Amino acid sequence: MPGGDATQSASVETHLLAGTDELVSLYDESFHLTERSAKHRQTYDVDSLVEATLWHVYPELLAPSTKSAVEFVLSSGLPRNIEVANAKTGDQRTLTVFRSPRGLGVVEADGKPSLRGTYSPAENDRALLFHQATHDVLTGLPNRRQFSDQLRSALPVSKGTRFALMQIDLDDFKPVNDTLGHGAGDTVLKMAAERIRNVLGEQEFAYRLAGDEFAVIQRRNDQPREAERLAEALVGAFRAPFTVEGINVFVGASVGIAVAPSDGNEFEQLMKAADIALYAAKEEGRHRARKFNRAMLMVLEQRETLRRSLRTALRDGQFFIEYQPLVQPPFSIVGFEALLRWRHPVVGIIPPNIFIPMAETDGLMSEIGQWTLEQACRDAMSWPPHFTVAVNLSPAEFLHAGLTDRIAQTLDLVGIRPDRLELEITESVLLERTINNLDTLNTLNMLGVQISLDDFGTYYSSLSYLKNFPFDTIKIDQYFIKDLESDSKSQAIVRSVIALAHGLGMSVTAEGVETAEQAAWLKKAKCDRLQGYFLGKPMPAEEIGAFVGRIMQPVPFENFPISRSMPPLDPRRA
Ligand code: C2E
Ligand code: MG
Ligand code: MG
Repeated sequence: MPGGDATQSASVETHLLAGTDELVSLYDESFHLTERSAKHRQTYDVDSLVEATLWHVYPELLAPSTKSAVEFVLSSGLPRNIEVANAKTGDQRTLTVFRSPRGLGVVEADGKPSLRGTYSPAENDRALLFHQATHDVLTGLPNRRQFSDQLRSALPVSKGTRFALMQIDLDDFKPVNDTLGHGAGDTVLKMAAERIRNVLGEQEFAYRLAGDEFAVIQRRNDQPREAERLAEALVGAFRAPFTVEGINVFVGASVGIAVAPSDGNEFEQLMKAADIALYAAKEEGRHRARKFNRAMLMVLEQRETLRRSLRTALRDGQFFIEYQPLVQPPFSIVGFEALLRWRHPVVGIIPPNIFIPMAETDGLMSEIGQWTLEQACRDAMSWPPHFTVAVNLSPAEFLHAGLTDRIAQTLDLVGIRPDRLELEITESVLLERTINNLDTLNTLNMLGVQISLDDFGTYYSSLSYLKNFPFDTIKIDQYFIKDLESDSKSQAIVRSVIALAHGLGMSVTAEGVETAEQAAWLKKAKCDRLQGYFLGKPMPAEEIGAFVGRIMQPVPFENFPISRSMPPLDPRRA
């Protein structure tokens, strides 16, 4: 929820609490008490959460006649005034029971019931407002304020008790919002809340904290066993796709678990622990649950250290580029892809998947990317002039305002022919700011550089990108290549992508080609270019000359891979 809501809710609630001496209490659909007014708090003792149900607070409602009135409210959505007699004192009272977005509310008239025999709309409105202050409007779950209040009041735990806090973050929710619109996003969030609610049992309570973040408090002692069981169920509840406007979208869930008191016995500490566990779940590939442990703290610390040294890595000359050949069937090298590496003085060589996301969040990627582009173009100047050089652009670089100018300047500065430069972008780049993206791509096109769509098939693979954007090449992600020999589905997908690309006048590169069989299959399927360990692993710039020298004469596929360690090509093998 946007920050504004919290303040707004706060004022509504403050106003209500200050302005009312009414007994207001709210319950979720399973009749658990979720919120109540100060007056109610003073009047009714609810010692433990076991007692926090409608039936405990108002046992009178359990009588068959009144119970059916409550059921009527639930099913019809119409409020009812219910006359009850206090079991102990025999006093008559009137309870206004109404349907709230996520359950029931009860307003109890303060004063002589005979004078207040009728239901007051104002009372009902107030109770609804009160409910809104503590609940998320979209999903009906208790909101962050409610969550904080309840978590704070549960801590520190009393001796011998334990409970679990779970932070839930949806995986791949943002692209849904970005591609299908906020309406679809809202629908997914509602369904997500429903799925979460459906796996909860006794003493398990869900909250919506913000956007696509949810939390669960599980008040059970057998920890972490119970938490792990529930977290698995939560993750499992997100395996099936969500159907929105007839479209299936996959939105998973990652869960971080922290148990009180062992992982933290005060609010901030426990929250932090759950947060770190969630981060670990995301890091390990998402769609999973992780329970906090101390080792996670160390990993986090190491990452922070790494992040700090990244700031000076460029200045200290710690980056270098490896080049991986792009091969055209049946046998010629057509270019190389530049793959960035970081040689950390202590840690050693760090792959781009680790440091590029860090550089992106820290705003360093634009500068690092510029260095890479320039260096790669310079290196390419020493290669045979028909070889292309492919440079990856991360989303931050692509969205950077001065990108096209910078590329034009670099081409000029280095003096490389524009058509020798290929820029690789992924679909994730295109999810945002579509109109400007098209401008950027068109400008690059006009400069004469080539543009490839990298990792095709791993994101949304929306066909509209292919229609609207001027790509020269589609790179099929290695995910579809790795089981190409055995999986007929991968074969069908690869065949269709090749046909699709060719139909649109684009060429196709297969990534991650590791075996002779894959290479042969792709060649037969008319794939234009191949890249992968089978054809050549990424190699330092200095080795390119020797590598190229070995295969200046045509080499049939059967003679690949041409490894770095291989002696110059034996003419008898050619
Ligand atoms: P990518 O652009 O899809 O690059 C291909 C990745 O697959 C490279 O990993 C490459 O080493 C690896 N690979 C190539 N052939 C095979 C194979 O046969 N089998 C397997 N299993 N893997 C293979 P690398 O170098 O770790 O790069 C990972 C990603 O990091 C790249 O994916 C690219 O998205 C990004 N990246 C690399 N260099 C740069 C850069 O200079 N700038 C930006 N923005 N991103 C970069
Ligand atoms: Mg690439
Ligand atoms: Mg790729």
